Amino acid sequence: MFDFLIVGAGFSGAVLAERIASQLGKKVLVVDKRNHIGGNAYDYYNEAGILIHKYGPHWFHTNDKGVFNYLSQFTKWRYHFHVVKTYVDGRLLPIPINMDTLNSLYGLNLQSPEEVQAYFDKVKLPISNPKNSEEVVVSQVGEDLYNKFFKGYTLKQWEIHPKDLAASVTARIPTRTNRDERYFTDTYQCMPKDGYTVLFQNMLNHPNISILLNTDYKDIQTFIPFNKMIYTGPIDSFFDYKFGKLPYRSLKFEHETHNKEYFQSVQQVNYPNDYDFTRIVEWKHATGQQSSVTTITREYSILANDETDKYYPIPMEENHQLFNLYKKEADKLGNVIFCGRLADYKYYNMDQVIARALMIFEKQINTK
Ligand code: FAD
Ligand code: UDP
Repeated sequence: MFDFLIVGAGFSGAVLAERIASQLGKKVLVVDKRNHIGGNAYDYYNEAGILIHKYGPHWFHTNDKGVFNYLSQFTKWRYHFHVVKTYVDGRLLPIPINMDTLNSLYGLNLQSPEEVQAYFDKVKLPISNPKNSEEVVVSQVGEDLYNKFFKGYTLKQWEIHPKDLAASVTARIPTRTNRDERYFTDTYQCMPKDGYTVLFQNMLNHPNISILLNTDYKDIQTFIPFNKMIYTGPIDSFFDYKFGKLPYRSLKFEHETHNKEYFQSVQQVNYPNDYDFTRIVEWKHATGQQSSVTTITREYSILANDETDKYYPIPMEENHQLFNLYKKEADKLGNVIFCGRLADYKYYNMDQVIARALMIFEKQINTK
């Protein structure tokens, strides 16, 4: 008899399993249909011995000290500022757009944040309350930079015009007036020293936690006895798509190993306007692994279907409305807790997922 059946061994499921097992001493069964733990953060050593992320790049960053301290129980860290460049007009330029981006792209000689701000003020469009992903960008940096850095990338990634995407999507990328080339400015930016999979192994290594892989919970839920379920899979699938399918984006990955130490100068290069892929990631820059060979991964975005994994909820008003129909059904169920990027249909980063799982543990589970 299990106190909890947890569907999904990603961050949402693993955090809750760890908390319930270690803090409440209750028995948990974690079930995942994949053949490994870690959810989308899973990493592994490929045939060339390079540590790569199976489901796309996972750069850890947070301002949440609680989340950082919590994870630090299960891993040591490699401190590393995440740096991304973008390929525009034949050059590799800093993204987020900053002083160096403008100077290199336009041959300017802007020297101070005030001069950069004055440039943005000259080119930006006067939109005081941006309502979509196009307006967010053009209201900060104007049309030319939007066309060069955001429009093509967003069309490739979502196959939806930025005008039709929620403002929150491109609002993830800030604009800078200084020379800061970090992709994120969060206080904590690092990678688990031995990788994510080892971190998950350490989290789930507890006598009260059992793990069942290669198993869809639907195939076992009727004969495995449990009191309560925590569900971290797609919410529409839980309800057998009764209101229709929620759309998600999926990805195809093309891995390539090169017989040289490095392929590109940074861990990630974005390609807004050239090629069919969105970005090329070179893992060793972020993991710090030393090797005479290197593996890169090209990412192609596709609409998810029944055969593919579901990676990105698509932030659009009509999808939000459909999600709300499922959410109302979910709220009626007394013994199932829904949690995570797929179950909440929210474009969460890892730290947000972890913070939410910790909050659910305190508010809904540890209620004695
Ligand atoms: P998931 O990791 O998706 O785990 C859900 C698990 O449930 C899966 O393992 C799935 O197999 C399992 N499951 C689903 N249905 C069933 C079923 N019926 N039966 C059994 N098991 C089931 N975040 C960052 O902070 N930084 C980044 O750089 C970053 N990059 C990302 C890049 C990509 C390409 C993607 C897709 C995401 C990225 N994220 C990043 C976000 C991060 O992956 C998520 O926030 C986090 O992993 C979500 O954890 P989760 O446990 O909610 O979901
Ligand atoms: N984006 C863009 N150009 C870039 C980087 C990002 O247009 O060079 C937009 C695009 O719509 C993308 C979104 O901003 O989907 C969020 O980017 P992020 O790097 O956070 O995407 P993720 O790593 O989550 O795929």
